[in-house]
Amino acid sequence: MSNGKRNDFNLILLGGPGAGKGTQASKIVESMDLAHLSTGDILREEVSEGTDLGLEAREYMDRGDLVPDELIIEMVRKHLDRESGYLFDGFPRTISQAEALENVLEVDKVIYINISKEEAVRRLSARRVCSECGEIYNLQFDKPDEPGVCDKCNGELYQRSDDKPEVIRNRFETFLEQSAPLVGFYRDRGVLVEIDGEREPDAIFENIRAAIS
Ligand code: AMP
Repeated sequence: MSNGKRNDFNLILLGGPGAGKGTQASKIVESMDLAHLSTGDILREEVSEGTDLGLEAREYMDRGDLVPDELIIEMVRKHLDRESGYLFDGFPRTISQAEALENVLEVDKVIYINISKEEAVRRLSARRVCSECGEIYNLQFDKPDEPGVCDKCNGELYQRSDDKPEVIRNRFETFLEQSAPLVGFYRDRGVLVEIDGEREPDAIFENIRAAIS
């Protein structure tokens, strides 16, 4: 990442697994003209297409470990191809990634959605995702009308392979060790807003809206 800096509004959603980053990202892009860039989504697409990157990334993802920084930074660089602002979801996840990002663009706001490990395990064990449109459901508090079928597009729902309890625990530990330092990194830059993630998605979205307006 080494081209000139851009000046549009750029937002980062930071939070451990299950914090609700994907759910909030969909709500944010409905109301703001931002390009949603989810490194997890891009990686899952690479895995399902069987690309070299996908094959390499898969072993890390299946264990709940982070994919190495060089691969992620190169992948993000290729996706930064539009002029207006970005909503980063799941990136950066390490200080090195954050430093690479700040070389190419100004980060205006970082929303840190905070939830406990117990809540993460509870939510992610019940998470199901539409294989067609990516809509996110929860079998406890946001069920689809018909079991296994997406309300929006009738696509088939599936459980992510890394949403198994033992992998979720490792993802959470990985977050604490490698990504939590980003909270201090962005607080020092004066752009961090911390939000309690253990509430209804709409209440969290209201906080986010207030923080960025
Ligand atoms: P997510 O969908 O954001 O939960 O990401 C799923 C998995 O993809 C993570 O557990 C990591 O293995 C990998 N991943 C996603 N984003 C990153 C990133 N920025 N850095 C390293 N690994 C990532």
